[in-house]
Amino acid sequence: MRNQDVTKTLTSTLAPEAMEALHDLGKIADGRGVGAFVVGGVVRDALMKRPCEDLDIVVEDDAIDFAEAAARELEGHVKKHRRFGTAILVLGRAVKVDIATSRSESYARPGALPDVAPDPIELDLKRRDFTLNAMAVRINADRFGELLDPVGGRADLKTGVLRVLHKHSFEDDPTRVLRCVRFSARFSFKLDPLTEKLLQDAVEHDLISTVSGERIMNEIRLILSEDEIWLPLKQLDSLGVLPSIHPNWHLPENAPSLFSKLPAIMKSPIGSIRSATLWHTRFLAAVSALSISDAGALLNRLRSGATLRNLIDELARFEVTARGRLESENELSRSDLYDALAPLSPETLAVVLASAGSIASGRVTLYLSELESVRPILGGSDLIRLGLEEGTHLGEVLADLRRACLDGFVTSKTEELEFVRRAIRDLDVENKR
Ligand code: ATP
Repeated sequence: MRNQDVTKTLTSTLAPEAMEALHDLGKIADGRGVGAFVVGGVVRDALMKRPCEDLDIVVEDDAIDFAEAAARELEGHVKKHRRFGTAILVLGRAVKVDIATSRSESYARPGALPDVAPDPIELDLKRRDFTLNAMAVRINADRFGELLDPVGGRADLKTGVLRVLHKHSFEDDPTRVLRCVRFSARFSFKLDPLTEKLLQDAVEHDLISTVSGERIMNEIRLILSEDEIWLPLKQLDSLGVLPSIHPNWHLPENAPSLFSKLPAIMKSPIGSIRSATLWHTRFLAAVSALSISDAGALLNRLRSGATLRNLIDELARFEVTARGRLESENELSRSDLYDALAPLSPETLAVVLASAGSIASGRVTLYLSELESVRPILGGSDLIRLGLEEGTHLGEVLADLRRACLDGFVTSKTEELEFVRRAIRDLDVENKR
């Protein structure tokens, strides 16, 4: 591909400010006498005519020194990661550039972090995961747009094939198993036969067990942040990747229906589901068949914090205490419906809605669209002014008042005042006994 054609392709997929940044960074590299390249996903996406936001740059230079020089010249800000020798350069409001030193990597053992050494761009590209991610475009001014494609990434893009660079790729870094499933699903690419065999071998030999929980979790988060997640999740399950992370991790039996309903729920969320974190919701759905103790062990393995743990506990409690009432044809008052669903966070509500039968689905929708925002006119301070002391009674009377509002027993401020005064009288009588 000619340099000007590559430049045209980049121009059509990157924002004008990003394109300008590439030219500016290329000139700075020229001033320092070093090679500079845009690499990886940016090049892949440009050749696929897919829009791309963040820039990955590799320089044949010290990345942190380069980023600092660029920040001075272009009035940007730098965030340095000394441990990894990388930097993030922020230019204006719209452009974020990840800058790394061109390097080669070697692996002491499967799953270990690599030993790295500065090396020319050709070797940097050969340490990458798949051919389609192993391309670079030079941004130095006099050769801007020169495509480097040492392992045939462009040909694989054209034929829709995902291919590792060598037969030890999954051994070197077993997180590539998860990346493989993610990219093949995202682009609907097929695996080349050798890559498929190597992937299966990697799963059979349980290479994933050698990877730290944080790195697996990071890849799971990326998969769960894709637009389409059903296909990759199904593949992870059928390939045996989920059980290699925890032996009892399989998708729930209702997964096809759950994951077919979840997208619409998250795309046009109602009520508090609007504030649900998408990947947490999807994670909760994906582990919803695990027992509490298996889910706990899985989260320990993934070194996950309290947020996901709380969601899993919440859903489990709901299943035991409230699911039956919600799905049953028996009448359920509005206040009982409120009490069943009010303890649930947005993510859990989304999963409950996606897994609900028709009766429960109507009830959850009623809760989200109407009941959860019902508030009495009187608040805690009004009740104190009416003579209640702060403490448990105050909370109980407020909850009773809300139930009365929900069930339509009180419909005005006068009726609320009457309700509270009566409650206080009843409490006085009780105290005197
Ligand atoms: P996305 O569109 O999901 O951001 P990306 O290709 O930009 O995809 P990143 O995770 O940002 O993915 O990685 C940037 C580049 O770094 C990749 O294109 C690939 O060349 C390389 N890379 C990332 N992770 C690995 C890995 N585990 N092994 C080898 N190369 C990797």
